Amino acid sequence: MKIELLPSTIEGGKVVNKQHLSCFVVDDEVAIDAGSLSFACSKEQKENIRDVILTHAHIDHIAGLPLFIDDLFSDLETPVRVHAAEEVIELLREHIFNWNIYPDFAELENEFGPVLEYRAFDPGLEFEVGGIRVKAIPVNHKVPSYGFVISRAGVTIALTGDTAEMVEFWAEIDEIKDLAALFVECAFPNRLRDLAEVSHHLTPGALGRELKLFTRPDCPVYAINLKPAYKEITEKEICELGFENLSVLEVGTPYEF
Ligand SMILES: [Zn+2]
Repeated sequence: MKIELLPSTIEGGKVVNKQHLSCFVVDDEVAIDAGSLSFACSKEQKENIRDVILTHAHIDHIAGLPLFIDDLFSDLETPVRVHAAEEVIELLREHIFNWNIYPDFAELENEFGPVLEYRAFDPGLEFEVGGIRVKAIPVNHKVPSYGFVISRAGVTIALTGDTAEMVEFWAEIDEIKDLAALFVECAFPNRLRDLAEVSHHLTPGALGRELKLFTRPDCPVYAINLKPAYKEITEKEICELGFENLSVLEVGTPYEF
């Protein structure tokens, strides 16, 4: 399985290894979140991706979705399928695809048919998306949010999305003995602990406590969703935790598992 965090931060006209937005692409064909989907995916990915799975509806996770559908509008022979929890779909319908912020693509068709289809998933029940098996697990964010366990051809990875401290997710993934990789958020540095608490995110200190609930020292753990304004200090504090299997995910680098 190949997974890549698409670039989303540009400084001085150049793409840099920071992360404003969240969009992971699995095997060049399924997107997990759509923050930078419209402008950072490759031509091949743009042609292949018709399934987008959303962790939650915050703008840094969905910003690239409206323009992705817009760009592809006349070419889509099948609709872009947005897989999300029912309450996340309602937020998209009400606040994004409402003709005020952007057109309601679910109402529109091109010459082949619909261009946007919402598919609600049931948390806790496995579902299939383009040959990939996915299970959504509730996490602890300010809005309804889900982490995912993703499997294909005997390889399983897990991704938290945005979250603060949680119990159910750790209990669930700790049972997966052959987990190939874990992607876990760590948004803020330790000095912004209060902001992390109120916005339901993790700091390196909190991440260190959370990882004690994950008893798989042989499984690589990658920190994701570091706020770009504090990336250097957050990364330093993550390194200082001293977990040998923990590192910060490189943006724009495909990882194979
Ligand atoms: Zn969020």
